[in-house]
Amino acid sequence: MTRNSHFDFTDNSHRRYNPLTDSWVLVSPHRAKRPWLGQQEAIAKPTEPEFDSKCYLCPGNARASGEVNPKYTSTLIFSNDFPAVKLEQPRLYEDDYHNSLKRRFMKTQSVEGNCFVLCFSPKHNLTLPLLPLDDVVNVVEAWKKLYVDLGKEAKQNGKPYKYIQIFENKGSAMGCSNPHPHGQAWCCSTVPSEVEKEFKSFAKYTSEHSGNLLADYVALERKERERIVLENDSFVVVVPYWAVWPFETLVVSKAHLSSIAEFNDKQQRDLASIVKKLTTKYDNLFETSFPYSMGLHQAPLNATQEEKNTAWFHMHFYPPLLRSATVRKFLVGFELLGEPQRDLTAEQAAKRLVDLDGDVHYAEKL
Ligand SMILES: [Zn+2]
Ligand SMILES: [Zn+2]
Repeated sequence: MTRNSHFDFTDNSHRRYNPLTDSWVLVSPHRAKRPWLGQQEAIAKPTEPEFDSKCYLCPGNARASGEVNPKYTSTLIFSNDFPAVKLEQPRLYEDDYHNSLKRRFMKTQSVEGNCFVLCFSPKHNLTLPLLPLDDVVNVVEAWKKLYVDLGKEAKQNGKPYKYIQIFENKGSAMGCSNPHPHGQAWCCSTVPSEVEKEFKSFAKYTSEHSGNLLADYVALERKERERIVLENDSFVVVVPYWAVWPFETLVVSKAHLSSIAEFNDKQQRDLASIVKKLTTKYDNLFETSFPYSMGLHQAPLNATQEEKNTAWFHMHFYPPLLRSATVRKFLVGFELLGEPQRDLTAEQAAKRLVDLDGDVHYAEKL
């Protein structure tokens, strides 16, 4: 009989700590039972055509810039026509402030870089779960190519590339306007703050406990087996203990791989396979093309040995859907002003995902 034996994690409110970002999430599991009276989202059209003559990502079509896409047959990488960061712009002198108050409150940093679009497939209607495994392997290879090539561009040609943030925004619920399966890569001269927060947490953990944060966390999850959704030789997928989004997951490499550049063929295939299975489960959950933002976190480009020791390859999936294809979670009210909150526990979400088919997509059964 422990002192916590009367505490019901599926009914009593509590807070959980996120060691990656040094923040807390409020968990209120008893609220999962209340009725829903809020907004209902329109169910997305179930089928898209294989080719859409109006889509600016389909092969042979013209983009907003007037450039015409090649008739590509696998993946396609091109520079974003409306990049958030640019390679060249007037110089910003960061220290050019005489007034110390201004220096304190209007701290400014220059940032340069480049943004790329990566089409996963020439087919307009094939998302990651619906692509054949070999084609998902091609996507992983394209991520690796971006990481390696941009690292070389920085080292050999002096391009201002320090960190590449590879991500996918999927579905109109996440603000993605084009259903053609594609991701993006924003490459900046600075390390973005979410990633920097994690690096600081990883370094702090190592100095305090000597191990590596994600290695120790995965070891604990593999022992407890309450939040693991999928596992293969190279990767584990968990609903993290501190998840904010209802069905948020973390894909973590089992071995110490600081970036995708260190992956061998088997690890590339294992990542493709586990991402395909996870996204198949996501689609099967509410029998819809499941929206999410997902991305890769890894070492900066041309990392020092110390940065390589600290970084640990992983991916985050942040999906907004809560109860059905039409009910989504919003980060508003207390969550915006206080701290994030969730109703369903991470264990309950993991159980739902574990029980779903990860091999056959619901659309293939129709
Ligand atoms: Zn298209
Ligand atoms: Zn991360």
